[in-house]
Amino acid sequence: MSKWSFDTKAIHSGFNQDSKTGATSLPIYQTAAFAYNTAEELADVFSGRKFGYLYSRISNPTVTALERRVAALEDGVCALACSSGMAAIATAIYTLAKSGDHIVSSRSLYGGTLQLFSEIFEENGIEIDYVDTTDSAAYEAAIKGNTRLIFVESLGNPKLDVPPFEAIAKIAAAHQIPLIVDSTLTTPYLFNPKAWGVAVVIHSATKYLAGSGHVIGGILVDLGTFNWKQSKSPALAEEAKKFGEFAFIARARKKILQNTGSCIAPLSAYLLNLGLETLGLRMKQHCDNALALATFLDHHPGVKEVGYTGLVSNPHHRDATRYFNGRYGGLLTFRLDSKESCYKFINSLKLAKNLANLGDSKTLVIHPASTIYCDIDEKSQQEAGVYCNLIRVSVGIEDPTDIIADFEQALKESLQ
Ligand code: PLP
Repeated sequence: MSKWSFDTKAIHSGFNQDSKTGATSLPIYQTAAFAYNTAEELADVFSGRKFGYLYSRISNPTVTALERRVAALEDGVCALACSSGMAAIATAIYTLAKSGDHIVSSRSLYGGTLQLFSEIFEENGIEIDYVDTTDSAAYEAAIKGNTRLIFVESLGNPKLDVPPFEAIAKIAAAHQIPLIVDSTLTTPYLFNPKAWGVAVVIHSATKYLAGSGHVIGGILVDLGTFNWKQSKSPALAEEAKKFGEFAFIARARKKILQNTGSCIAPLSAYLLNLGLETLGLRMKQHCDNALALATFLDHHPGVKEVGYTGLVSNPHHRDATRYFNGRYGGLLTFRLDSKESCYKFINSLKLAKNLANLGDSKTLVIHPASTIYCDIDEKSQQEAGVYCNLIRVSVGIEDPTDIIADFEQALKESLQ
């Protein structure tokens, strides 16, 4: 299976056909629980003496197919699907850290993640130090005896800065702590985190993995680069004695997912599995369209600044080229002269939609400062690359001439 290329794995891994009926579309096991003929059998499954499904809050065959497909695309050991990207991040963190522990994180993060960190983890006794994404020395300097993990986004949302993955992974390895990367913006099609020493990769599957803005989901994948027996999290080191390389996902499933109930629904897993089949095709088009739109905006006299790593003038262009398979993703930002111009621009769009999502087949825009980051102070906003005159665009897979024409007419309106 690992010999298959990306697009083949996206279609055939995890589930190929139903062994009983020959159905080639993944069956949706829409059931809460799974029955056994004897009390002994059910007790064996509960105790782990025998493999089997028990209750869909813990695992479900449709969800397993999704987990196997994403694990195959990431060339990972195993995966755990969750109800959302936020649930996947929370599950990963709670698997490794508890009150009194410490995390080192990039400060260029999606607003929801910043809020989860401050409103849940910091309020519940997990200390977090934030560092500049690109400064490997800062990660090293922030590590303490009780640091349990390093967290970064592969491409900061919306700052679009790129961390030096191999340098951070080396620092993490030297301190025996895992590097966790949220690769939502880059997907396994653009970025192979395992090759750069990342331990665990997370996706908001709601975005490009699903592809059409029609489902909420998240997933985390253990890439097999970290030896959990050497983990500084005592619980993980203990788990590794029993589960070996599966320790992280075993603990995430049994201790966190099972107790918090942040499981994904079988129908959502089915929809995600279907979306994955066209991930490669879609990502190519997202990237090509984003580069075309970024180039157009970069040449437009009314646009102050364009954020897109595909532009040769972008400070992260060389790193992005090296890490992301020669493509630069579907997200870009640009700045106008004021918040009012941004609003006028958004209100003048006819094709692109104004909403809080990304990675949809449709082109989407948002004014992050007054929406996603509205509860975050101005200093933290700016550290995450958010300004009152900035618009974020998730470039869809429509015909690029139509997207550019829509932006051109809206810019004309907003600059009047
Ligand atoms: N991570 C990133 C980079 C995101 O952009 C988002 C959502 O926009 C999330 C995580 C959260 O994902 P979800 O909305 O599926 O919970």
